[in-house]
This record gives sequence, C-alpha cells and structure tokens, in this order.
Amino acid sequence: MIDLWYKDAVIYELDVKTFQDSNGDGIGDFQGLIRRLPHLAGLGVTCLWLQPFYPSPHKDDGYDVSDYYSIDPPLGTLGDFVDFVRQARERGLRVIVDLVVNHTSDQHPWFRAARSDERSPYRDYYLWSRTKPPNADEGIVFPGVQETVWTYDEQARAYYYHQFYAHQPDLNVANPAVREEICKIMGFWLELGLSGFRLDAAPFLAGGPMQRGAGSGELYQHLEEFRLFLSWRSSAAVILAEANVPFEEVSRYFGHGPQIHMLFNFLVNQHLFLALARRKAAPLAALMKKLPELPATGQWANFLRNHDELDLGRLSDRQRAEVYEAFAPQENMRAYDRGIRRRLAPMLNGDRRRVELAHSLLFSLPGTPVLRYGDEIGMGDDLDLPERLSVRTPMQWSAEPNAGFTSPDVRRTVRPIISGGDYGYEKVNVADQQRDERSLINCMERLIRVRKECPEFGWGTCTVLDTGQPSVLAHRCEWKDGAVLAIHNLAEEKVTVPLRPGKGERLVELLCDHQHQQVEQANNIELPEYGYRWFRVTGDQWKQP
Ligand code: MG
Repeated sequence: MIDLWYKDAVIYELDVKTFQDSNGDGIGDFQGLIRRLPHLAGLGVTCLWLQPFYPSPHKDDGYDVSDYYSIDPPLGTLGDFVDFVRQARERGLRVIVDLVVNHTSDQHPWFRAARSDERSPYRDYYLWSRTKPPNADEGIVFPGVQETVWTYDEQARAYYYHQFYAHQPDLNVANPAVREEICKIMGFWLELGLSGFRLDAAPFLAGGPMQRGAGSGELYQHLEEFRLFLSWRSSAAVILAEANVPFEEVSRYFGHGPQIHMLFNFLVNQHLFLALARRKAAPLAALMKKLPELPATGQWANFLRNHDELDLGRLSDRQRAEVYEAFAPQENMRAYDRGIRRRLAPMLNGDRRRVELAHSLLFSLPGTPVLRYGDEIGMGDDLDLPERLSVRTPMQWSAEPNAGFTSPDVRRTVRPIISGGDYGYEKVNVADQQRDERSLINCMERLIRVRKECPEFGWGTCTVLDTGQPSVLAHRCEWKDGAVLAIHNLAEEKVTVPLRPGKGERLVELLCDHQHQQVEQANNIELPEYGYRWFRVTGDQWKQP
C-alpha cells in the first residue's frame, strides 16, 4: 500500500539559521526551531521543508555542502536534529530536507582528494578536461555573476565542470559509485526519521555536459534509481524535485513507472504572476487547461515565492517584461536576466487584498501548497543584500529588539534583520498579528484550515470554468463524491460571476474575503475587487461528511 500523505500536505519551507536562535550567537539553530514548533503547528502546516543545514563554507548559503552526514556546528548537533524530528512528529509535522547532490563544495573531502591525486578513486566523482572545452560559456546558471562552466584547477592541472558557481564542482552522477553515495546519504537521513527530500537542481543530475538536455535518458534513469532506493527503504518517503522544465519534459519526470512523487509547478507559478500583472485570468486559465495529467501517485507542488528569485524564464520576453513592469520596476529588483528577487508582499505593494488573493490561489490550485517562511505575516525583502539573499532575512517574531529572532543585545545576526519602513520587524511581526484577529496570519490560518477540509483540491480532477468575465478564474475540483469550487477576481473592479451549477446542485460558502449574502442563486455571485470565494458543491440530499 502506497502512502500518499503528500497529496494532502501543506508544506512550509524554512532555513534553520534564519528562523530562531536559542543560544544568543545570532544564528538560528535546531533548539530555536524546536521552540517555534507550536507556531508552525498552530498555523496548520503539516510538513516542514528544511533548507541545507549541513557543514558548508557558505559561499552559496549552504547549497555548497562539505559534509553530507553532519550538522553545521552553529546550528546544533545530530542529537538536536533527532530531537527536532521527534518533537515535530509529536505535533503531527513531517520533515523533508534539501538534498543537494548535483554538486559539492570545493572544500568537500571528495573534491580535495580528486584534485590532488589523479589516481584517487574520487577523481571520477567529478568531471575533468585537460583542455578548455570550446563551449565553456554555455549552460551558465547564474548569468551576470558566473562566466564559465569549466574552470582550471592548478592543483589538478585540469579544467573541472561546474554548472553553478566555480566553488561548486558538479558530481559525475553518471559514475555508479557517485549514485551509490547519493543513495547512502538518503538512507542515512531516512533513518533519522525524515519523510523525504527536496531534490535540488534535479534537471542537472544527468551526469555531465554530454548527457544533458531534454533528449537525455540518463537523467530519468538516475531519478528512477533514486526513487526505487527510497521506496525500498521507506514506503512513505517522497522526492520533491526542483525542476523548471517545459511541458514536454514534465511527464518524463513522473514516468510510466516509479519515478519522482512531486514536481514544483514552475509553469503555474510564472503564469500566475503574469495573470496578476495583467489582472486577467487568461494566462493562468490557459496554462491550467494545458497541464498534462499526472499518474495517480504524482503531484504538483504549488508555490508563490521560495528562497530563490521568482524565475520567469519560461515566459516570452514580452510577457517577462510585463511582469517586471508590474512587480520589479527597478533593475536592482531583478536577478540573472530571468527573475525577481523580491518577497511577495512588497511585489504587491503591500496590498492586503492582493496578498490574500494570491494565497487563496495557492491553497486552491490543484496540487500541494508550499508556503515560504515569513509569507504568513507578509514579510519584506532587503535589496541591499546581494543576489537571492534579499529574500533570506531572519524571521520577524516580535517588535522587541532583534525581532525576537535572537537575544536583544546581540550586535551581529546571521543576516541583517529588516528594520524600519513598512516591512520592518517593528510593524510586521508574528506577535502583533496574533493579537489582531483580522491580521494576515489569522487569515492564513483560516485558509489552511479550510484547505484541509477540501481534499478535492489535492486529490481531485480540476476543471477550469468559463465565466465570461476576463478577470475571473473559476475552477472546480472533484474527488470521490465531493466537489469544491473556487472563484478569484484578479481585477481592481468588482464583478458579478455567472455560474451554472449542475441540476440539483447547491453552493455552500466555505471561505471568502468578507461577509456575503448566502448564495441563493448561483447564477450571479458577487466578487469585490481582488475578491475570492470558495464553495462546496452539494446536492439536495444529505450526505455523510
Ligand atoms: Mg544559535
């Protein structure tokens, strides 16, 4: 029996070092995270996704791992980690963690051995070339920051391959010994109680420049190998792949057999922001109609923002320019010629109606929602920080000095805490919002609660309905005997939505942005500017809930 818990999950992404400090060193840690578990359980999320917490030189915020079997010392010990997983489980929270195995840090012992001795068994863990390949400037992941994918190493007297930064040499995944190491890493963390992995940079795991690309079968073979290993060890463990890929490739990730369980829905994400920018539903509605059907065990992971830039690389140049104009008018709000390095709330000018609307979409679109820490209170960004660090500032817990993130007398925190202005911790923090029943955090808690009562959004089949109103997205999800329906008005003007329920069907309001009249006639449902409403579709007959 396969456990499909992830179809009903509400995932919350956080970074331990920016979440809560417990020992007054200004760096978040596992004991601090344990203290905040009541917040997370109270919010209603069901699964935590931890960004990398492994030892690292931190040249790429921990995505440059130097030891896969340990905890970065300032964050705690393996003992603290196990304590955390156990206490999370006590509160009904599963844990998945980042698995970063496309590359290692150049400080990893494997790379140090590989570069210093050509006969080392670790030499073939990486990709080398005696001469600089002619296409060394192709396939760069961070344009504007990175210049090449082949860098010369004096010690090795050869060029090594790196799709990311030069300090992150790619692992040679085509080497079976490397794949064995990857399985061993997964096996280790599974034994400590995890429910799976968020697979970083999944499309790059093909195993070298020759194997890359859509036509490559190697990538999918490797994914299948990892998935099979995981299934043997734990029937409930999942792989959530980070892969911003075009339509044609989506079904290959899910495969016909056992491949990955979940894929981030980058396509919906980009078209959702295009729809918000245009204040029209068409870009998102058209995309939803085109999405390939997934196998019964497959699932989309929907998100608004994450720890990276808002990647708009799958939009046309013109579409991307529209989103830039609406949400990132200044050059320093953008990154890598493809995205936006801002948090959601400032992108929407702090307009509470639009922030709610965006989250109502997140929690009702078909798939599993993934929430980014801080978005439950509408945190802002710090554009003075380089690249993607702008959206990785410490969590704002209270209006106390240092935002309750660490002791008030700490001078230096792991990253500056946002202070002053509309998004400073003095104005935007958890404690104040918990005291205000109309706050964003209470709205989010309600959205999550109602979402959990609507398994149709996670499990069901989705139909986009035609309402004749260009600003309105209306979709209906059905599963088993149940059906739910959500309508969203992306425009600044109020609208009346004509819906035609089936014969004998009634709509029962589940959730809305404010009080409405009970729906008597489903033909004309009012939506205010940026309004949203969710309904359960029910017949005249009483049914057991
Ligand atoms: Mg600490």
